Amino acid sequence: MRFDEFDLHDEILEAISYMGFEKASPIQEKAIPLILENKDLLAFAQTGTGKTAAFILPILDKIAHSKGDSINTLIIVPTRELAIQIDQQIQGFSYFLPTNSIAIYGGGDGSDWVTQSKALKNKTDIIVATPGKLISHLNVGNIKFEQLQHLVLDEADRMLDMGFYDDIQRIVSYLPKKRQTLLFSATMPPKIKKLSSAILDKPEEIAIELSKPAEKVLQAAYLCSENHKTPFINHLINQKEDYKSILIFTSTKAKVNQIVRGLKNKNYQTDGISSDLEQSERENVLSAFKAKRTRVLVATDVISRGIDIKDIELIINYDVPGDAEDYVHRVGRTARAESEGVAVTLINENDMFRFKKIEELIETEIIKLPIPPEIGKSPEWNPKSQNFRFKNNQRKNRKK
Ligand code: ADP
Ligand code: MG
Repeated sequence: MRFDEFDLHDEILEAISYMGFEKASPIQEKAIPLILENKDLLAFAQTGTGKTAAFILPILDKIAHSKGDSINTLIIVPTRELAIQIDQQIQGFSYFLPTNSIAIYGGGDGSDWVTQSKALKNKTDIIVATPGKLISHLNVGNIKFEQLQHLVLDEADRMLDMGFYDDIQRIVSYLPKKRQTLLFSATMPPKIKKLSSAILDKPEEIAIELSKPAEKVLQAAYLCSENHKTPFINHLINQKEDYKSILIFTSTKAKVNQIVRGLKNKNYQTDGISSDLEQSERENVLSAFKAKRTRVLVATDVISRGIDIKDIELIINYDVPGDAEDYVHRVGRTARAESEGVAVTLINENDMFRFKKIEELIETEIIKLPIPPEIGKSPEWNPKSQNFRFKNNQRKNRKK
């Protein structure tokens, strides 16, 4: 379906075409008409399927020419990075409209607080906020929500994972009862249903193929002992000279630093990002990577959800994520929308069973390859190897 088949204002259609969007994605096709009809909505769609535009476009359409005198829309998101990104997308889509927006998030210096407070008093149409910072502003009476018409919860599953359930309830208690509420999520855990029945009113529900990375991602796994991982990724990055944008995920902050050190020695432009960095540093690192000034970014899962970086060509999972859903999110950073991408996971002996669980979740068997012999010997694929080897050893020991 083309965007001009929706009943949207010309200014919005023009901005969409400037953004280079031609056809609506499936979630957009289903969500936009329902939102225009003022329905509450529960929408589930995997990462990278265009959920942001699915809610921004119809909301902008509804406020297009009614520059109100107070806050019209509140969008709650889990992280600062996502707040900034969504705010930027709103600015793009509303380029030809008088609508304005602001991102409200913590971690900056005191001057942010002043700017944010001013913007909140100056009748900003759309606020994109993280829960904690929003509550600080609410506590000092900075925000008036009497005229609010739309509440959006983006990455709702992630917010619940991060323990924001009560904060969200608290924020909602400040909002008018009569409003439109939209909840977007990549997964459908039971807690979402609980939240939904607490704050949505007779919602329509849309679910589009959950828990599968986009089809254009070429996925592969390498069987690799822990001590061969760094030499192997060095080899991989060396080999793929034409890959300008490579994202490496690992589960812990300590490993981010260790991997960055390993790669910097080889003279790649490499940076690391984790919650250890100050907010301003995180933004600098992320924008250098987005602008392709940094070739390799090493990250923890803080950035695997929701953040959209164009044209990442290679994702490397340095380790198997503990949570199978995180795998889908990490891999979802490549091949976003229409592009193609490669995602490679390094599996050591102890992670085989966990990787098997991921394959079950995504209902796909991923090809497993050995690392080149000059780097080391690959362990054999045996997802139960941990238990079995233990037993075998015991048996052998007994025989001795
Ligand atoms: P999600 O929130 O579902 O993870 P995003 O809204 O971040 O996904 O969109 C993923 C990427 O796809 C973004 O780069 C966005 O600009 C792009 N995109 C979204 N909708 C379309 C579309 N209809 N046509 C082309 N690109 C799109
Ligand atoms: Mg999103």
